[in-house]
Amino acid sequence: MSQPSLLARADFDSLIRALAARGYRVLGPRVRSGSIVFDEISGAADLSAGFISVQEPGSYRLEDSGNGRYFDYVHGPESLKRFLFAPKETLWTVSAGGEVSFKETLPDLRPLAVIGARACDLAGVSVQDRTFLAGQHSNYTDPYYACRRENLFIVAVNCTRSAATCFCVSMNTGPRARAGYDLALTELDEAFLVEAGSEQGETLLADLPLKPARDVDETAATQAIAAAADSQTRRLDTTDIQALLFSNLEHPRWDDVAERCLSCANCTMVCPTCFCHSESDVMSLDGTASEHRREWSSCFTLQHGYIHGAQIRPQIRHRYRQWLTHKLAAWIEQFGASGCVGCGRCITWCPTGIDLIEEVNAIRATRIDTPAPFASLFPPG
Ligand code: SF4
Ligand code: SF4
Repeated sequence: MSQPSLLARADFDSLIRALAARGYRVLGPRVRSGSIVFDEISGAADLSAGFISVQEPGSYRLEDSGNGRYFDYVHGPESLKRFLFAPKETLWTVSAGGEVSFKETLPDLRPLAVIGARACDLAGVSVQDRTFLAGQHSNYTDPYYACRRENLFIVAVNCTRSAATCFCVSMNTGPRARAGYDLALTELDEAFLVEAGSEQGETLLADLPLKPARDVDETAATQAIAAAADSQTRRLDTTDIQALLFSNLEHPRWDDVAERCLSCANCTMVCPTCFCHSESDVMSLDGTASEHRREWSSCFTLQHGYIHGAQIRPQIRHRYRQWLTHKLAAWIEQFGASGCVGCGRCITWCPTGIDLIEEVNAIRATRIDTPAPFASLFPPG
């Protein structure tokens, strides 16, 4: 890939125009209902500039940053998940006019470009790829996910600030975007340092009014990203985490967290890697057609634990335990990576401010280490 270049702040429109000229629907960060979400933009004027997000457990608010920067807000509730794994979609239709026929309903997609994805979001996509695309851990490709994935152009932004709930450094996923982007930007005072991460990104650079980056620009970018990393105070200690969680399934802390957890599923909705879903068939009123639908679900719902006529997670303690042990331990066995990328969204958007790091720390500090049921089915390593 080419050397980093500089795009002047006044020329940011050219990036949006170049993407639109190539047929992309372009999304960027915009304020909606008091938080930043990805929404359609046709020019830089549509971007929400000059905000920082103040994030704490159970709390999110936007404040004026006092400058006109576009990307100081860190992140909102959305990752890239909904652009690849749709919250609700029809997978196929069946009609019975004479003969019964099945029709796949693959989306006819206009290519999508998202400006503002963070390093943790890229890591989240990498985790979702292991779930939905054939590879080392699966021989099945979900065609709905795959066609969206092929049509997605990602403009990542290196974080130069961290929220108080971020812990990507301890998960080795950020704050610098390392892979999985087409272009990566670092916002400087009057310009953006631009790096290409794919051939499409490299090709697009040819349409932009760029200048070569100077050493001083690259140093400023590196220092700003390092400052964001240094400011992170939350860290998840992942030492021996699989054994810790699997051997503490009966720890009293699960009862403690169940007293605070509303089982609302917010944490799974905002998590960039959660992929639980339900499927259902919806019949037409005259009984001649039906749609097979998939929509996001959550291990926090009672319905999701209802399997073959029995409720396998009747209490909140079971559901929170399922979520945390799957995310931080079983995922590693299934997919060879943690299911957590350290974005901190589940902490910010939990209405009661439950912090998964505190829960793990509490179990670690008072571990009881009893043999896990069915432990022999899951030998370590
Ligand atoms: S941990 Fe928080 S966000 Fe998750 S289900 Fe419980 S109350 Fe809701
Ligand atoms: S578990 Fe929480 S911190 Fe980890 S990736 Fe999901 S939302 Fe982010």
